[in-house]
Amino acid sequence: MNLCIHRGAKEIGGSCVEIEADGQRLLLDLGLPLDAELDKTPLPDISGLEKLDESLLGIAISHAHLDHYGLVAKVRQRVPVLIGKGALRIINTTRQFFPDAPDFLRTIEIRNKEPIVLGPFTITPYLMDHSAYDAYALLVEARGKKVFYSGDFRSHGRKGRLFEKLLQNPPKGVDVLLMEGTTLGRSGLENKYPSEDELESRFIDHFNSAQGLALVWTSGQNIDRIVSIYKACRKTGKKLIVDLYTASILMAIKNDKLPQPGFKGFHVFVPTSQRILIKKRELFDIPKSVSFCRVYLEKLTDLASSSVMLFRPSMTRDLETAGCLEGATLIYSLWPGYLEEERYQWFQDWLEKHQIPLTYCHTSGHAPVNDLKRLAEAISAKRLVPIHSFEPDTYKEHFKNVEMRNDGEIWSV
Ligand SMILES: [Zn+2]
Repeated sequence: MNLCIHRGAKEIGGSCVEIEADGQRLLLDLGLPLDAELDKTPLPDISGLEKLDESLLGIAISHAHLDHYGLVAKVRQRVPVLIGKGALRIINTTRQFFPDAPDFLRTIEIRNKEPIVLGPFTITPYLMDHSAYDAYALLVEARGKKVFYSGDFRSHGRKGRLFEKLLQNPPKGVDVLLMEGTTLGRSGLENKYPSEDELESRFIDHFNSAQGLALVWTSGQNIDRIVSIYKACRKTGKKLIVDLYTASILMAIKNDKLPQPGFKGFHVFVPTSQRILIKKRELFDIPKSVSFCRVYLEKLTDLASSSVMLFRPSMTRDLETAGCLEGATLIYSLWPGYLEEERYQWFQDWLEKHQIPLTYCHTSGHAPVNDLKRLAEAISAKRLVPIHSFEPDTYKEHFKNVEMRNDGEIWSV
């Protein structure tokens, strides 16, 4: 078995690993690098993506984050994409709103612990706890060798027990563990991220003390977080108002345990930017499907003090027009680094202009070092190869049997 990390050996984002056995090949993820533009980013030099090469059997996508699947949008051949059902539904919904998202022409559904045989490869997905819904680690076996690709993971989210189960019953005899290390060199060394349950309690405090509209800026795809926010709304008697995109994602997943239109106190607002998009792309069925729980701009002032609203900066003008910002507060629930970027200076000014206080309420989608160690010890692979980290050099300080690889290097297992 031969391996090549095309991208990700020394960076977070754009992960892509090629595995070859008996002349047949499989890709694990085909991500868009962080901050990269799709138009300006070429595909990695892998035969079968642009021109037909039947030895490329499939592209397994670990989860629905752009830095793991974004470049599939540029693949010219009908290579089967192996992906979870929930992740596929999220990407398909995202494409209605953001046309850059890929359209997977051929898909093979992956399910927790159900092996799939593709040529010489047996691929076993392990459902993981991560900030993306329906995220998997992937065990790939071929020619008596085993590679375990961690994908992105954590244990402090709403599916943390999956991680504990994996530790109790890990795959045996793994030759190579490709393990993410997002938090190395970041805050992961402190080993104490709040759990989603703890965040829920913090949201309750914030919502209780809010005088006016409580705006929460988070990702519409961070389903764990939306569950935390919704639960906190229920416990504080607040209504939750989400934008049409977020509502569409929640409905598309088709998991009736997730908050969505029809749930008590759940409302949908269609911001101008999304209204223009609906008109332009003639997606009228989407707003129609939520008409029974829709709230309009004119109502926002009346609802402000009894509501929590999911927020994105493109909504600022709508909120000004509605005149609902008196006593408003903004709870920032994303990676803090984004807000410090220059492109959001205008937004900081906007908050100041309207005297909206900002508080942070967030936890990482990735495991701190302690949990990375627990996984490395449980899998106990012959070799541990860093991936999805800006600090691969520091792996040796924390884990055993570390072997560094470079992007583009081909090595055998
Ligand atoms: Zn991710």
